[in-house]
Amino acid sequence: MFKLSKSYNNPKHSKLTRIKNRVKFLTYSIMHELLQCQFSSSSLQNFLLLVEAGQFLWYAIHPDFPFLWQTSFAQYPRDIVKYLQVDALFRQGDRSFYYTVLYIFAASMLGLFMCVTFIVVKFDVVMKKSSTVIYYLLRLLSLCALLLITIGPIPVFHTFFEAITCDKDDNLDNDSKCYTGIHLVNTIIGSFGLTLATIFTFTSQLLFIDFNPASNIPFAGPQSIIGFYKLAMKIGLPLYITLDSDLSTAKGFVIFYAIAWFFALVLRYISRGYYNESVNTMTTVTESIVTWAAITAVFHAHLDVGQVDDIGLYFFLVISPFVAYSYNFLVTNQRWREMRINVRKAQKVYQIERFINTACFIIENKEKPQGRIELEGLLRYHTKVCKKDINDCLCHTLGQNIANTLDSSGEEEKIWYRFVDSLMADSIAKFPKNSRLHLQNAYFQQDSPK
Ligand SMILES: [Zn+2]
Repeated sequence: MFKLSKSYNNPKHSKLTRIKNRVKFLTYSIMHELLQCQFSSSSLQNFLLLVEAGQFLWYAIHPDFPFLWQTSFAQYPRDIVKYLQVDALFRQGDRSFYYTVLYIFAASMLGLFMCVTFIVVKFDVVMKKSSTVIYYLLRLLSLCALLLITIGPIPVFHTFFEAITCDKDDNLDNDSKCYTGIHLVNTIIGSFGLTLATIFTFTSQLLFIDFNPASNIPFAGPQSIIGFYKLAMKIGLPLYITLDSDLSTAKGFVIFYAIAWFFALVLRYISRGYYNESVNTMTTVTESIVTWAAITAVFHAHLDVGQVDDIGLYFFLVISPFVAYSYNFLVTNQRWREMRINVRKAQKVYQIERFINTACFIIENKEKPQGRIELEGLLRYHTKVCKKDINDCLCHTLGQNIANTLDSSGEEEKIWYRFVDSLMADSIAKFPKNSRLHLQNAYFQQDSPK
């Protein structure tokens, strides 16, 4: 950051390079400030994830799918998720609602754009957040970024897609003339909003993240593609529903949707989710339930012959808790397997990364019986493969301490962290040029007690 701030007006560089560096510097600095003043808590994050799952669930149990249950009982789950996105209300053809939403979203995008411009212009002068206006603007932007990485994209993109397309099957377009008069005005507003929304959403998705395992930001997590994968779904779903508003291809869509969610679960499994335990559990539970809903829709569309009945709905409701529990168990259970690697001989950097993160997590939770057991397991496994002398590795000291159940004065914790630190140092010696390991080491050195 410091290097960039100097280099963006280095006269030796060409003008283009200087502009590029300046844009980079400002984007990173502002995003850093946004993360500093974000106010999300685990409960707010969990709430947003729940709403997001409801938005996704809507497209698995859509009431206009002809092959799905149409009873009054099936109405309840649909009513719950009905108001979490704009599709249900657009479908009713309420044009004044649609105009209101379109203008509000377009105005918000313009407002966001003006906020960002204002901050960019003023940023050099008020780098220290001395201005109250800047401080509140940053708070506001931070909230917007939080919404854009969670529940924002589906309704926002849907509204703008609706504005730029003209579909005669659609209740909102059926008696208006395409691309003339008010429709043309809406199309222009829509494409302008869509451009800004795309820029803001992608920037937030890319930079409004925290990789620090010790971070107290609830959405901090390891580097992973899952965020972008879900964003692609959040843009793809409204696009599909706008282009095929009478759902003539619904039978094919549900297969595609179920496969997409299945991949999401695989990606989530590989990426090891968020550092915050409750947020992590919320994602695994909600995502597996949405996947299960999509799979039941496939069963209905392709395997269920004859009359449309409710059995599938009971099937979905009864099996859901089991699916959620099993998937969550699989994801949490990884922690045990991740501990069973020899860090000094690990071939892949991500194995070391996970080992260190999980080790720190267990050390923090060592007062709990479960954490204690895991910690002892970690040490036992390490001692088994450790080739170092008694004086060269802390594992021997720790082994004796565990036998004598040492005090809880915090001294023991420091030894544990020094033990992990020595493993970290060994890994860096093995992969001296790996930037991910160096970054993790920097976080570790900053946050562990010395
Ligand atoms: Zn050892």
